[in-house]
Amino acid sequence: MDKKEKTKEIKKKLVDTGNQGRKIPNIIIRGKNFGKAVSRHIKNGCEFVEIDEYEVRIEVCNDCEMRNGRICTHPQCGCYLEEKAWWSSESCPLNKW
Ligand code: SF4
Repeated sequence: MDKKEKTKEIKKKLVDTGNQGRKIPNIIIRGKNFGKAVSRHIKNGCEFVEIDEYEVRIEVCNDCEMRNGRICTHPQCGCYLEEKAWWSSESCPLNKW
């Protein structure tokens, strides 16, 4: 399975599950955090993790109380997890991965 197919599979898995009522950071915070994440990703040469590491990260997020569907609700995040987990420059704001 390639990266694109894997991302699609994980997106589908996460979308309908996980603390649906949990408050998602507002669009301004999410935009700022995303901008910082993009900057780190570019500085890191746009590197991605291997699929094994990606799966470990997603499993941790899957069981995390901060997840609302596909989104990490931590105030320092707000990202779509199926994308964030691929970027080797990124880490969990709670240091879970
Ligand atoms: S990135 Fe960390 S805090 Fe966010 S959902 Fe995943 S494990 Fe939880």
